Amino acid sequence: MPDRALPERFTAPPDHAPRSPLTSECSGCGACCAAPDIHALHKPLGVACAHLGTDCRCGIYLSRPAVCRNYEPDWVCGEVAPLPTLEARVRRFLRIYGLEDEAATSAGAPT
Ligand code: SF4
Ligand code: SF4
Repeated sequence: MPDRALPERFTAPPDHAPRSPLTSECSGCGACCAAPDIHALHKPLGVACAHLGTDCRCGIYLSRPAVCRNYEPDWVCGEVAPLPTLEARVRRFLRIYGLEDEAATSAGAPT
């Protein structure tokens, strides 16, 4: 019997069965610092934050903005974190949210 139920945010939508074991904590994979757009940091979609190190750690961790402090791991982490490269994790993150085309467009790729 499980000790306690995971919060709802760790449950994948019914049309998106998780392929990876459920993750309930951040493993520091860096995907959420590279995939989404973050207005507070002027960070475009699909582009790694300027403060993200090559080790996928935040270079301004102690002074990172509230949007980063308040970000919580959820079921998407279990989908992206096990992938072997940041590029693959970002691609998967964008695919989950249907943002691949938008990311390519905002990066100036030909349409
Ligand atoms: S995507 Fe999830 S596991 Fe990866 S760094 Fe962000 S919160 Fe952590
Ligand atoms: S400021 Fe740090 S925590 Fe926030 S997106 Fe950039 S690297 Fe990630």
